[in-house]
Amino acid sequence: MNTQRIHLSLSHIGSREYDFVREAFETNWVTPLGPNVDGFERDLKTFLGEDVYVAALNTGTATLHLGLILLGVKIGDEVICQSFTFSASANPIKYLGAVPVFVDSERNTWNMSPEHLEHAIKDRITKTGKCPKAIILVHLYGMPAKIDEILTVAQKYEIPVLEDAAEALGSRYKNRACGTFGNIAALSFNGNKIITTSGGGALVSKNEEYVKKAIFLATQARDTAPHYQHSQVGYNYRLSNVCAGIGRGQMLVLRDRVGQRRRNNQFYRKHLSDIKGISFQTEPNDDYFSNYWLTTITINPVQTSGITRETVRLALEAENIESRPLWKPLHLQPVFSDCSFYGDGTSEALFEQGLCLPSGSILTEDELEKVVAEIRKNFTDLV
Ligand SMILES: *Cc1c(COP(=O)(O)O)cnc(C)c1O
Repeated sequence: MNTQRIHLSLSHIGSREYDFVREAFETNWVTPLGPNVDGFERDLKTFLGEDVYVAALNTGTATLHLGLILLGVKIGDEVICQSFTFSASANPIKYLGAVPVFVDSERNTWNMSPEHLEHAIKDRITKTGKCPKAIILVHLYGMPAKIDEILTVAQKYEIPVLEDAAEALGSRYKNRACGTFGNIAALSFNGNKIITTSGGGALVSKNEEYVKKAIFLATQARDTAPHYQHSQVGYNYRLSNVCAGIGRGQMLVLRDRVGQRRRNNQFYRKHLSDIKGISFQTEPNDDYFSNYWLTTITINPVQTSGITRETVRLALEAENIESRPLWKPLHLQPVFSDCSFYGDGTSEALFEQGLCLPSGSILTEDELEKVVAEIRKNFTDLV
C-alpha cells in the first residue's frame, strides 16, 4: 500500500502567513481584535467588491447563526434550507428553536431548485398561515446556485436570503462574487476550505447595520458603559488577531488557489470524461464560474455494468486515496427526520451516485495521475 495518503482537501499555506502571525505576537495583539482582523476584513471587502461590509468571525457556523438572528429568526419560525448540503448550513436554525424546511436541488447546478422553493413557500403559507422567515441558499462544492431565479422567488414573497458561501469564496455568478447576493452571506475559513485561518468565518452584507450588529453580538453584546452592561444575549464569535494573520497571508494566494482547484478539475475531466456513466458537476453556461473547491462526479451503475461510486471509493481507499460520498441530504439525516421536505429525489440520486475526488490545491501532478489511474482500473472492461 502507498504510505503517503492522498487527501480530499488539505490546507495550503503560502509564504506570508507566518509574517502576519509573527507580527501579532511581536506587537502583543493576541486578542479577538487587532490590525490583522481589520486587515483581513479589508482584504475580503476588496476581493468581494460590490461595496459590501465584512465582519470576521470564528467559524462559518457561528456566522450562519448570527445571520439568522440578524434576519429576525425566532423560536417556532420556519426557515427554508437547501437539503443537499453540510449539516452546518441547517444546525443554526435549530440553535434558535426555529424549524428547518428542506428544499431539493435541481440537476444543473446541484443547488436549490427555484421551482421546489416556490412550491415549498406556497405550501407552508397554506399549512401554517405564515411565510417562512428566511431562505438559506448554498453554493455546493463552489458551484453558484441559480441565483437570479432564487432571488426572484425570494423577492416575490419578500423573504430574506442567507447565502451560505462557505464553499464558494472565489466563485462568481454573472461576473459577481458569490457571497454578495444574499441579504447576508456566510464564508468559512475552516482547514479544508479554499483558504483557511485554521478556523474562521466572515459575515458579509451590503447593509452596514447588519455587520455592525454582528460585531456587537459577536463580542458579548456590551452596551456602552464603563462597567459591563448587557441588555441582550451576546456571543463570543469574533476571530482572533492571530488567526486573522493567517487569513491575510491566505488572501494573497486566493486567486492562485482558485486556479489550482480549477486545474485539478480540468485534469480529471480530461482523463475521465471518456468513461461512460461518469458525469461531472459542471458550470451550466458562462454565467457560472465555480472555484471547483471539490471536483465531484456521479457514477451511474446502469451505464457502468454495476460499478458504483462505492466500488470506486473502496478501491481508492485501498490505495490510501481519500474520496468521499457527496453530502447526504439533510432531510435524510436522523437529526432532521421530523422536518418537512419538498423535492423530487434529485439530491437523493446525487447522494447515491456521487463522489468527491481529491481536490486540494496542494496536490501534485503525480498524485492526480495516480488518482486517475486508480479510478480507471475499475473501468478497464468498459473503455
Ligand atoms: C464548512 C461549511 C460550513 C461551516 O463552516 P465552519 O467554518 O466549518 O463552521 C457551513 N456550510 C457549508 C456548506 C460548509 O461547507
